[in-house]
Amino acid sequence: MPPAAHPQQEQLRLEALQALDILYLPLEERFDRITRILYRLFNVPIAYLSLMEADTQWFKSIQGADLLSTPRSDSLCQHTLLEDEMLICPDTLQDPRFADNPYVLGPPNARFYAGFLLKSRGQNIGTLCIIDTQPRTFGPEEAEMLRDIGNWAQTEVNLTQLSDSQIELIGELDEAWQEARIDSLTRLWNQGAIKQILHRAYQRHLLNLTPLSVLMLDADYFKRINDRFGHAAGDQVLQGIATALRHCLRSDDTVGRYGGEEFMVVLDNCDTRRATELAERVLQRVRSLRFPQIDPQLQVTLSIGIAGTEARGLESEADLMDLADQALYLAKDQGRDRLCVLHEAQHD
Ligand code: GH3
Ligand code: MG
Ligand code: MG
Repeated sequence: MPPAAHPQQEQLRLEALQALDILYLPLEERFDRITRILYRLFNVPIAYLSLMEADTQWFKSIQGADLLSTPRSDSLCQHTLLEDEMLICPDTLQDPRFADNPYVLGPPNARFYAGFLLKSRGQNIGTLCIIDTQPRTFGPEEAEMLRDIGNWAQTEVNLTQLSDSQIELIGELDEAWQEARIDSLTRLWNQGAIKQILHRAYQRHLLNLTPLSVLMLDADYFKRINDRFGHAAGDQVLQGIATALRHCLRSDDTVGRYGGEEFMVVLDNCDTRRATELAERVLQRVRSLRFPQIDPQLQVTLSIGIAGTEARGLESEADLMDLADQALYLAKDQGRDRLCVLHEAQHD
């Protein structure tokens, strides 16, 4: 089956998508919340929220599979874009649009598909979908539930929910530059971007005197995980940690991959006490991560260093980062799987 013809309004569609400015952002928890509900509600093996660019389908959130993007010409959703509201296919092998699709004939062997259109400025920019590996009937009641959640997803897609520092940064960058600011393994901000975000947040702190906290996080004994299970398994664990971090944070907190198995979190408008509570939640969440596909016994922990602008002796954002870094080393020294807060900058 040839790829579906592009909608007549393709140009307008792409403009609407571009105007949203969310295509090349790091993955966001607010979309995960929606796909998780969909996944559980319909009890399907795969649920996702995607945006359709000219040639690429981007998965902004996906449950049950590990995909960031796929060529539009392979996608199931290219057909949904031609609809007004949703496309339901009870059995893909019986539908000429889907029967020879690679995702039907090969993994994940999609036999049932339901996709709801997400619109912006009246244009079809993306889809909210569920997939099953068995044919399935989908009655009016189920369509109604998909519609309800789809409308919620549409509202989220059309909202920008980022800290002021992130919005500023994004506003100044074109798409290629944004793409270069995102870590390809975890889809978090990379080191350059998170440092820029800290810089802006620190300027704002100086201006408004609102508190600002920084967490430096490092996976414990990570080398052992690589040595024992291989680098690819290590990568999966890093992705698991990144997802756990996103789940613990508020939408205007910013998380980046600082390097290898190190992460940094910038907590705008957050004092040290609240930062510590949040770090406790992060420790707990990462400790309870399981990786059955690698080894059911495998566990990973983090050490976290915390510093906030209430600390004495801080003269710059570099001091704030150094202090968080020193706190991280103390947490390591004191036995790992713990956090440590420092309240006074040391100047040599
Ligand atoms: P510590 O508790 O002291 O932090 O011990 P550690 O083993 O975590 O620290 P160390 O610095 O000795 O090792 C870090 C390891 O992280 C070594 C490196 O191979 C691994 N690593 C860094 N980046 C990646 C990555 O992208 N993928 C994988 N799989 N491993 C990575
Ligand atoms: Mg390290
Ligand atoms: Mg480490």
